[in-house]
Amino acid sequence: MSTLAGNPRHPRHHEIAHKLAVNVFSETAARVPRLSDQSQLRLAKALQSSLQINEVLSTFAAEARLAVPGFSLRYQHAPEKAEFALGLAQAHGCAYRLDLHGHDLGTMTFTRDRLFATDELALFELLLCSLIYPLRNALLYERALRMATIDPLTRVQNRMGMEQYLGHEVSVAARHGTPMSLLLIDIDHFKSVNDLYGHQFGDRVLRETAQTIIRATRNSDVVFRYGGEEFVVILSNTKSAGALMLADRICGEVREAVIEEEMLRASVSVSIGVAELLDGDAPSDILRAADQRLYQAKARGRDRVVALS
Ligand code: GH3
Ligand code: MG
Ligand code: MG
Repeated sequence: MSTLAGNPRHPRHHEIAHKLAVNVFSETAARVPRLSDQSQLRLAKALQSSLQINEVLSTFAAEARLAVPGFSLRYQHAPEKAEFALGLAQAHGCAYRLDLHGHDLGTMTFTRDRLFATDELALFELLLCSLIYPLRNALLYERALRMATIDPLTRVQNRMGMEQYLGHEVSVAARHGTPMSLLLIDIDHFKSVNDLYGHQFGDRVLRETAQTIIRATRNSDVVFRYGGEEFVVILSNTKSAGALMLADRICGEVREAVIEEEMLRASVSVSIGVAELLDGDAPSDILRAADQRLYQAKARGRDRVVALS
């Protein structure tokens, strides 16, 4: 396996796309099959036309395959959890760690059933130079989208994330005829937690309650902060009976949890409204049903679950 990133000719393989491109032109220009200006321009334009990582990488791969046929490609960027693969990994390969001014842009691995020639590696390096800025922009965009849906206090997704996810899950459930349920959870008398212990401790209660809810749920359930002291859990493939069991568990675990900070020590309870998606329901219908049941849980004395009106 030849690995360019480890090549002693390029000991500083950070900024590899830049550094290697300079080397390509200055050291080996005579024997490197140059990309035509036209195809470089076409690639640059195509790469700049999207901010989606997958689209950027597909465009890159399609153009690179014109210059170097038969390769498979794998791209990974751990911090953004970005992954892209084209074709199955093959016996021979080269890997590039992409880095722009100290910012990690991930790793690109090309593999093939036969060794890459020096000229072909040089072409990869040229092509990577066109990729690096569009890729950086796509990673930044991905991050901005993700941050926009995360609640900074509890680190769970916020209402915007919930609306996107709920819309998607409702359409999947309608298309496949699968069940779906939703819990609307509201901390009881939370205003008095703030009043008694201060806003900062109130924040702590919100964070810990979010964690208690997450711990009580399965991996397939997704927790959102819906508003101030309200959370939503979306349960794919779950009927009302299963949702009711989970809601009871959450209610019990929140009640048991003790939140401590220095001299302060408190417990809270939650009220929960449970709703199952009915035929023809829009996202707002299931939310409204859960909200009505939450209201009843409050009216009946709080610290309880209501699943049917
Ligand atoms: P109920 O049992 O009827 O739900 O009573 P409640 O006191 O929980 O409900 P209410 O709607 O009267 O009060 C909600 C409180 O949540 C008021 C608001 O100041 C507080 N709150 C909302 N967001 C935050 C936050 O981010 N941090 C803190 N500490 N408090 C918050
Ligand atoms: Mg509330
Ligand atoms: Mg409340």
